[in-house]
Amino acid sequence: MHETKKFGDLELSKKVFNAISDMGFEEPSPIQTQAIPLLMAGDDVIGQAQTGTGKTAAFGIPIMEKLNPKVRNVQAIVVTPTRELAIQVAEELTKIGKYRDVRSLAIYGGTSIDRQILALKRGVHIVVGTPGRVLDHLRRKTLKLDNVRFAVLDEADEMLDMGFIEDIETILKETPTEKQTLLFSATMPEEIQRLARRYLRNPKILSVSRDELTVPQIEQVFYEVKEHNKLDGLCRVLDSSNVKLAIIFCRTKRGVDELVAGLEARGYEAEGLHGDLTQAQRNKVMKKFREGRVEILVATDVAARGLDIENVSHVINYDIPQDPESYVHRIGRTGRAGKSGMAISFIIPREYRQLRLIEKMLNSRIKRCPLPTFEDVFERQREVIIERLAATIQSGKLGNYRSIIEEMANDYETVELAAAALKVAFDIQGSEEKSEEVETEFSNTGAEPGMVRLFMNVGRVDEVKPQDLVRTIAEEAGIPGKLIGAIKIYDKFTFVEVPREAAEKVLYTMHRNTIKGKRVHVEPAKVRSR
Ligand code: AMP
Repeated sequence: MHETKKFGDLELSKKVFNAISDMGFEEPSPIQTQAIPLLMAGDDVIGQAQTGTGKTAAFGIPIMEKLNPKVRNVQAIVVTPTRELAIQVAEELTKIGKYRDVRSLAIYGGTSIDRQILALKRGVHIVVGTPGRVLDHLRRKTLKLDNVRFAVLDEADEMLDMGFIEDIETILKETPTEKQTLLFSATMPEEIQRLARRYLRNPKILSVSRDELTVPQIEQVFYEVKEHNKLDGLCRVLDSSNVKLAIIFCRTKRGVDELVAGLEARGYEAEGLHGDLTQAQRNKVMKKFREGRVEILVATDVAARGLDIENVSHVINYDIPQDPESYVHRIGRTGRAGKSGMAISFIIPREYRQLRLIEKMLNSRIKRCPLPTFEDVFERQREVIIERLAATIQSGKLGNYRSIIEEMANDYETVELAAAALKVAFDIQGSEEKSEEVETEFSNTGAEPGMVRLFMNVGRVDEVKPQDLVRTIAEEAGIPGKLIGAIKIYDKFTFVEVPREAAEKVLYTMHRNTIKGKRVHVEPAKVRSR
């Protein structure tokens, strides 16, 4: 197990520490454990980290500690490849800096520049922006980087792919030489290494060490869900499975509280376990769970550490863990002592790369399953109803209910009567509800029905052949090659059709992956209207 540290060991100020506690973080993630002390000590850092590892707080926390909120000028610049990431990072920084009154602003293209100019004029401490828009402001002199003490290049390899490398250099040249520079990148292609040699001073390179781990032999599956329908997905899984005792893992304390509330509102009995509970409360929750009086325990990794509970039938990763090791520790809580167990993970599309890392470490695939349908839920309910009815008949205490049926039996068939009674008691809607089909970026790619056409920026000039594409996609996304549809290779790009159910997975595992040694950019094809 990797050495765990607490935020308390990182010598943070009370204001930053409290902000992090409010966010529900209990313990630093591995990249944070390594990066924060180095950055506090003044080092430049290269972090090989994906989204989902906690990299934003890894640089956000030390920046927040070190900048001076009293002076309203730009002291840190974070450059990100996309507008979405810029907003996400700025929001996270605002949360970390809330008690220090640090102002963070996202600036990106595609929206009015005037509002951004006004916001910059009012004074901000941290600017998070996409390269084009940052340059635009620099040219207009609405953004000055003379006082910058931190420059962060986030998802540097993605920026390289998008052709931003020169823009980044121009931006860096506008900053003072005396500063800390941080570079985060999932991969380290030569151009990124060159950039690092040029602009970082003796950078410390961070990688998370991997211990040898024994992977428990239990069934592992994952469901792909969208952020907004995760809870519904979880409920369907709970309703259609034979859950005896389940531990559900969330990333943060707040996540635990929200999920417990969400489950309770939907009629499930669940208890939460996290670091804010007193020992007495904790004992009470554990006792209930051990005795089976509550079936569902929702916990953070920290709170669940050291728990030794028998008969856990399901471990559910409601949030995917931040590092592959935690995955193994989490799922090791089921299938104890030769009993069967099941590990279920919920994955939102942008977490596919994290999932892939976990699979690489396990050296096996985690099976993707479609979310249970209402028929599946009904199937499980049937078993439950049959068990309960049989038990009730056996107990023999039917009292007045019997006389109701006897009275009605003259006018109705017994089967009909019994079915009506069940409907009243359980009110099952069966498959009447239908999930709505939402318009997505895959809705109209010009592919055959049921398929999605993806665009890739490799082609004949890269000597790419259909069999290379089929092999790589099948391997990386873990889908059978025969499911891959029409492939059209042009000189510089290619269209590949894949089944709709696999499209997200292919997109997220192939984007920025390599085919024939070339890194590819993948996106849904767009049908141009004439
Ligand atoms: P990032 O890799 O920065 O995109 O972070 C992924 C998610 O993890 C974000 O929702 C963060 O708020 C969350 N997060 C970051 N650090 C921690 C931590 N130490 N404990 C729990 N959650 C965290």
